[in-house]
Amino acid sequence: MLRRPSSKWSDADVDFLMHHADDDDVCVVDIQTASSLLDLDAHAKYQVERVDAELALVREQLTALHKREKALLSERAHILAEQREVNALDTKPTNYTHSDFLWSSELLRTAQRVFGIEAFRSCQEGVCNAVMDRRDVMVVMPTGAGKSLCYQLPALLSEGLVIVISPLIALMTDQVYHLRERGVLCALLSSSMSSADTQDILQRIRTLAPDMPRLLYVTPERIVKSKTLLSVLQRAYEAGRLERIVVDEAHCCSMMGHDYRPDYHKLSICRKLFPTTPVMGLTATLGSAALRDVLNILGMRETTTIPERALPRRTVYFRAPLRRANLQYSVRMRPSSAQAAQRLIASYILDHHEGHSGIVYCLSRKDTHTMADALAQHSSGRIRTGVYHSDLDEAEKHRVHAQWRTGAIQVVCATIAFGMGIDKGDVRFVVHACISKSLEGYYQETGRAGRDGAPSDCVLLYRAAADMSRVSGMTASEVGAQAKLHAMLRYAQSELCRQSILATYFDEPRTEPCGVCDRCQSPPPRHADVSVWAAHAVQVVSDVYARGSRITLAALADAVYAAAKSDAALSRVDCECLVVQLVLDGYLSERFQATAYTVNMYVVPGPRASHKGPVSMVLHEPVTSHKRRRS
Ligand SMILES: [Zn+2]
Repeated sequence: MLRRPSSKWSDADVDFLMHHADDDDVCVVDIQTASSLLDLDAHAKYQVERVDAELALVREQLTALHKREKALLSERAHILAEQREVNALDTKPTNYTHSDFLWSSELLRTAQRVFGIEAFRSCQEGVCNAVMDRRDVMVVMPTGAGKSLCYQLPALLSEGLVIVISPLIALMTDQVYHLRERGVLCALLSSSMSSADTQDILQRIRTLAPDMPRLLYVTPERIVKSKTLLSVLQRAYEAGRLERIVVDEAHCCSMMGHDYRPDYHKLSICRKLFPTTPVMGLTATLGSAALRDVLNILGMRETTTIPERALPRRTVYFRAPLRRANLQYSVRMRPSSAQAAQRLIASYILDHHEGHSGIVYCLSRKDTHTMADALAQHSSGRIRTGVYHSDLDEAEKHRVHAQWRTGAIQVVCATIAFGMGIDKGDVRFVVHACISKSLEGYYQETGRAGRDGAPSDCVLLYRAAADMSRVSGMTASEVGAQAKLHAMLRYAQSELCRQSILATYFDEPRTEPCGVCDRCQSPPPRHADVSVWAAHAVQVVSDVYARGSRITLAALADAVYAAAKSDAALSRVDCECLVVQLVLDGYLSERFQATAYTVNMYVVPGPRASHKGPVSMVLHEPVTSHKRRRS
């Protein structure tokens, strides 16, 4: 006898149905046919309808159970096969970089049909192969190199559910919008959604409905905190339908990364709950220490293997070349007054990028407003500006995004809150009005330029003492922030090719000059022996320190400039760069003091203060090069 089905199946129900799924007494004859032969009174009609409704439900559940049985059998076979392979050939590698896999032709056909892609870029195909092969995969690819295709495409070739964990709603909204345009079943869970919409999505997954999303985008907070979501995922997992967990911006897991987020750290729960579901980490930048940390936190297989000869029981590690040949990096000295800096940016945009889309990154929310107003004013409205930072409400953020996308806004003056998930190809320039907190951040922010492959500019406006003091104070309490800031400052002050510095910093094997950055394009910069002035600076700091007092970088640069007036070669800007270089080289050290409003940075004698070696430095072109004056 068929038992009365309920919306919740007990183990006994499942057991019963699994054993009787093919029995004739369960797959009942079509009652509609039988009943249509009879005259039914109202009561009987009601009863038949009730039974029919129940039957429909049972059939739906039977179909799901059949599918589940199939999935379980295939998962079982997969586990056994994998174990056999591992036992027999622990060292047998797989090459994921070719196109002769069983799924290869379908992969390309789907890429062409759904995404309109004719050929794979960079390591996209290799990643898709490893994903199709159910491997743990870590992908480090520059912003704009097509990371999302690496999980979206394989998701379309599976019957299961891919969870995509990403930190920003804007990014996910964008992706879901584009995927839906292409007819892909996908969904986003966000706190701004109505509870009915959320329930609808969860219900479709819970019942493994035919219109269940293939890709479900969620924030890390939601995964970590929502028990309902986890229980729904557990169901999909048990049914063998949880295909993969994708962690976008995976560097956020690690405190050694540059954008640590506590909720990302808790994502370790995913591997614990869903041990056999493959995990994929995606990021634009990841150093080797942070990589190990991220693998550990996400519970991925700890050692990595290269995609060309991928060993079993390892995480397959893909790393696309970092260099973007179409980006022209340059550093310009910034005038000391804010108004002059704003005028400089306005004339730069009008001279080089009139009408082009761009971003001007500012350090604070307040700066974004001042900058936007100033650019509009200095260009008499020819530069159409918008403002973006984390304090804006969602509607305003959305408006700025949308207007920028259509060109109604030409330049967005933004904090670093603007960027993740921007999918705009024709960004022709990214100007930084001040340094970033780290090279990781700077690389990621500038990576938003030129995604369409056309030449684009990444300009950093730099003012040594002011930038170092300001960012140092802002990040004084962050672990590891000082070393990161020093790397950023070295980039700004270096005489080497900008792209080579980035490549070296990110452990790239190829570090030859790019040929297009300001260092590669200009004649080699002038050097000067500044040993006398370095010694003077250290002496000033030591004297002040001995008196129990303290001095700021700017005051120290002033002191050196006043003393070096006889040395006409040394500009005010050079004096500032010199004192920063003395900190970077260990002649001076930073000290911080918090006030009610801010943290101030001072300098004290450093570990090499008594070292009397020669100090040489690169001299900088005066700030306004055409006037050739000391600023
Ligand atoms: Zn270069």
